[in-house]
Amino acid sequence: MSDHYERVKIELQQMKEVENEAAADVVQLSTASVSPVPADVSFTARRDQSKSSINGRSRSKSRSKADGHERQVNGKQLPDLTPQKSDYSQGQSRVINEPNLHIKGTARLLKGKTAANGHVESCQRQTDVKCEHHGKEAKKRRAVTVDTSKAKTSLEALKMSIRQLKWKEFPMGRRTACDIYWHGVSFHDNENIMSGQVNKFPGMIEMLRKINLSRAVRTMQELFPEEYNFYPRSWILPEEYQLFSSQIRLLKDNDSTLKHTFIVKPDSGSQGDGIYLIRDPADLRVISGSQIKQAVVQEYIQKPLLIDKLKFDIRLYVLVRSLEPLEIYIAKEGLSRFCTEPYQEPSQKNLSHVFMHLTNYSLNVHSGNFVHSDSCSTGSKRTFSSVLYRLASKGVDIKKVWSDIIALVIKTVIALVPELKVYYQADIPLGKPGPTCFQILGFDILLMKNLKPVLLEVNANPSMRIEHEQEVSPGVFEYVPSPVDEEVKVGVIRDTLRLMDPAQRKQHVTSSTGGGSPEEAIVVETGSDEKEGLADSLPSLCLKQVFPKYTKQFNYLRVVERIATIFLRFLGVKGTMRLGPTSFRTFIRNCKLSNSSFSMASVDILYIDITRRWAGMVPDSKEAGMCLQAFTAAFFYLAARRFKALPLREQVLLLLEVCEGALEGHSEKPRPHRSHTNPASSQSSAPITFSSPALTRRRHRPPQLSAKANTEN
Ligand code: ADP
Repeated sequence: MSDHYERVKIELQQMKEVENEAAADVVQLSTASVSPVPADVSFTARRDQSKSSINGRSRSKSRSKADGHERQVNGKQLPDLTPQKSDYSQGQSRVINEPNLHIKGTARLLKGKTAANGHVESCQRQTDVKCEHHGKEAKKRRAVTVDTSKAKTSLEALKMSIRQLKWKEFPMGRRTACDIYWHGVSFHDNENIMSGQVNKFPGMIEMLRKINLSRAVRTMQELFPEEYNFYPRSWILPEEYQLFSSQIRLLKDNDSTLKHTFIVKPDSGSQGDGIYLIRDPADLRVISGSQIKQAVVQEYIQKPLLIDKLKFDIRLYVLVRSLEPLEIYIAKEGLSRFCTEPYQEPSQKNLSHVFMHLTNYSLNVHSGNFVHSDSCSTGSKRTFSSVLYRLASKGVDIKKVWSDIIALVIKTVIALVPELKVYYQADIPLGKPGPTCFQILGFDILLMKNLKPVLLEVNANPSMRIEHEQEVSPGVFEYVPSPVDEEVKVGVIRDTLRLMDPAQRKQHVTSSTGGGSPEEAIVVETGSDEKEGLADSLPSLCLKQVFPKYTKQFNYLRVVERIATIFLRFLGVKGTMRLGPTSFRTFIRNCKLSNSSFSMASVDILYIDITRRWAGMVPDSKEAGMCLQAFTAAFFYLAARRFKALPLREQVLLLLEVCEGALEGHSEKPRPHRSHTNPASSQSSAPITFSSPALTRRRHRPPQLSAKANTEN
């Protein structure tokens, strides 16, 4: 990691120099100097809009909703990062006078950028020269074929990437198979793909809906509360409405001076849609028409880190290259999206100020204070490295910030993997022909004032647009090239493709749910340009491998994945995602979990009880039977019954040992993954004494509220 930081520092320095040069050019053109945020910012221009309900946005909504895309055109005290007032005024005059901010056109015109884009242009030129070399080498090999017919809004960045790699694009699809299929929305955008690689995993959209992400993280919080405290306390609506209300009331009764704020997010919403802040459970808008709204209500982080008095968040791109073995890469560069109204801690008066509380680009772009900038280190959307550079210059330990972020990303992916494997096996059953998958995810992360990163959400379809919306005259919006987006996103797509190059993956363990282990992955990992000498001909990879690289540090967390391995074994390969009662009985029998005090009749009652409860919690599921979450709940229950008086984590680990040990004897089925580290070594022989079908509600119990939010510690 240290190399990376050194490089970031050098790159940032270089960037700053280039920027200074670019700024000098700009001065000649515009007479204004560069600064991040307008001075004496007049917050009157769009005040009405910002104060209106957070739901009050309307423009450009349908466009990306239609394709399921995210609508983005997107106790240590910190030093004061707020610039002097004069900086502000300079910034404002830049916004007004800077002619280059008004380049009109589509992304196609990106090639013909003016000198204002000098910085990016020079990056582009360097890339093109390097790509020349790469092209000569590529000629020796068969060009990799990419079906781009379903790429949707990522098309422009994808085309650029393919051009740089000298690969072959099939914009209308191809009769014969392609090596790579680039989908804009989901795995199912093209049906019947029998080979190659698809840039989406089955089930990723479903898993990353706000409720499912919360459930997946909560399961991990039950096992590893300390490790998963990067996710704010959340309640799932409507099922936990009463619980949420009573917990908050209790808290207020105990201490009326406490001022908690909560953010309510619709389950399938994106880009700030339908989000609002509340301070009292009575303000929850639970019903919409005749329907009860599915939503997550979450503790609001009241003390975010501010730059220029503004709240901002970080969009990081993460590549899940394969599930088995698990391979995760993080893009070294990301985006920082800034609010456009100075931040104040929430009060009843400012709860509806969207431009103060929500960092969504798609909202803030409609604020009169939004600053479009051609520079990567100023304006309302900047590169993350420029923010890091700024923090580093104030003495912040950015190495620590980065490693905390890497840990957050790995832990989050580990929470998602178990269910993703179930989706994967349902769509691409073992032994049947089908593609392998990879996916770029968009992690939205907030830095707290104490620099602790907090996970806000993960996007299955992060916007890969390289243009942004701009109001060119009152009420008239156009897409104009966005150098910041291009810089970051083209690199991410190009380097994802490089990592997925079939020639590079020849010796790589195939991505399937059936084989391999993290340890194997370390041994056979070969898939990078560097090892084949291509690094000289292209810019160095912007994607950094973090898993299996950090397997040793994080493998112990993969406990639910081991439960999923058992679940999958009894699920079979029939394309289903639910366990029937017979399969559940077989699981109990094969794992030798029944005995005189836990009869097979009790097993059936357990199955029915828990399956029913989960059917109510996952209302849109069409399939009957026990889902993985229900199986995990049953597993936790069985573990608690058998290994009483131990902490849950140890109970579960011990039961896993019992099950995996028993299943090893059943040679007719594939072995469960023994490669996942299991810290538990002893095993109790205490019989299961299941006596009542009234199961503990442990899995569904949300975290207790304490007077102080632990995410703000
Ligand atoms: P969406 O998918 O609609 O963008 P997010 O979960 O990303 O939903 O929330 C939108 C914005 O709200 C975030 O970008 C962030 O600025 C703010 N936000 C979300 N959750 C929290 C939180 N728990 N505390 C503080 N701010 C939050």
